[in-house]
Amino acid sequence: MNVLVINCGSSSLKYQLINMENEDVLAKGLAERIGLDGVIKHQAEGKEEVKLDDKLNNHKDAIKVVLDLLVDEKVGAIKSLDEIDVVGHRVVHGGEKFAGSVIINDEVILAMEDCIDLAPLHNPPNITGIKACQELMPNVTMTGVFDTAFHQTMSKKAYIYPLPYELYEELGVRKYGFHGTSHKYVANRVAELIGEDIEDLKIVTCHLGNGASATAIRGGKSVDTSMGLTPLEGLAMGTRSGSIDPAIITFLMNKKNMTIDEVDELLNKKSGVLGISGVSNDFRDIEKAAEEGNERAQLALDKFYYIVKKYIASYTAAMGGIDVLVFTAGLGENSIEARRAICEDLEYLGIEIDDENNNVRGKEQLISKEGKKVKVYVIPTNEELMIAREAIEILGNK
Ligand code: ADP
Repeated sequence: MNVLVINCGSSSLKYQLINMENEDVLAKGLAERIGLDGVIKHQAEGKEEVKLDDKLNNHKDAIKVVLDLLVDEKVGAIKSLDEIDVVGHRVVHGGEKFAGSVIINDEVILAMEDCIDLAPLHNPPNITGIKACQELMPNVTMTGVFDTAFHQTMSKKAYIYPLPYELYEELGVRKYGFHGTSHKYVANRVAELIGEDIEDLKIVTCHLGNGASATAIRGGKSVDTSMGLTPLEGLAMGTRSGSIDPAIITFLMNKKNMTIDEVDELLNKKSGVLGISGVSNDFRDIEKAAEEGNERAQLALDKFYYIVKKYIASYTAAMGGIDVLVFTAGLGENSIEARRAICEDLEYLGIEIDDENNNVRGKEQLISKEGKKVKVYVIPTNEELMIAREAIEILGNK
């Protein structure tokens, strides 16, 4: 069984073709600058990487080029498109309609379109990608895997905001949470590594990349998560503020005469560790600047670590304990210093990092001291594999 995993962003398309017999990646690639000029990087297992500058007017163009590359005699991975059994599409926002992955039909597309207001930047390209694949591969089953679905298990007290209840009823204003595929993958993987049933574990997963979120997972189910109605809530991020006093918004609009769009741009694009440091949204640049004595860079890092630390403790409270802490995504997988600083002073919860074990980048490893109550792990995330597994599972239930 081969699954083609497709992740369409506003001007990009990431893909992987995975053989589910052994979960081998047969080919993967990235198309960027869709709608501008277009550039595609593609690599099939055991073959040379290809870079193409191709005019890509839209996502359909990009998918067409990708499919051609996949069956290309020289650089491809399969002989014909018939070898693709199912396509797994990443969809960012499923609202309250999708608590799990689904087979896509007209009704599902309409429901996805209903969620556009909740994710205006993300859902439209996701839907465009699905429609393009349906046109180009009319006989292949399309499945949708939602970033929000894993968090649909949150209790009402976790997801409701302290706002007039009518806003929830009329507009769906509530916490949804994101990065669900990643949190689910690393939680299941860590339980597998420890050799315990996930049903018996209380896990906090920290997905720390350019976008960052933490999730409390009890018995394999999301109990609470830091992102909210949109991916702006929660932890500070590369360019996003995360949670702030909401009154800052009206204060800025008054004092600086800012429009809604300007405030939106400030909170999403100019804040977070970029905003504090003034250096970059990339943690590598900020770590370097801090090492060289840049105080604002150090402050940005300290603030970020401090926020993550507080989420770990608050999610321990939400679950009545913690057995496992997981770090994943770009920073979580690679920054030795970030993990050390975040875990500092959490000994009272039973969390203690072993400096030698923590000296690791980008691979699965237990990094806590032996015999400590909480097992702390680095687990590289693999959203594509999770999407492929879900696609196969739904296909089985068809
Ligand atoms: P996203 O998918 O949200 O774009 P990633 O999970 O790829 O994000 O993470 C990107 C972030 O990870 C960047 O801010 C980058 O600085 C950080 N990162 C990657 N490698 C390292 C490293 N070796 N040390 C510190 N930070 C790193």
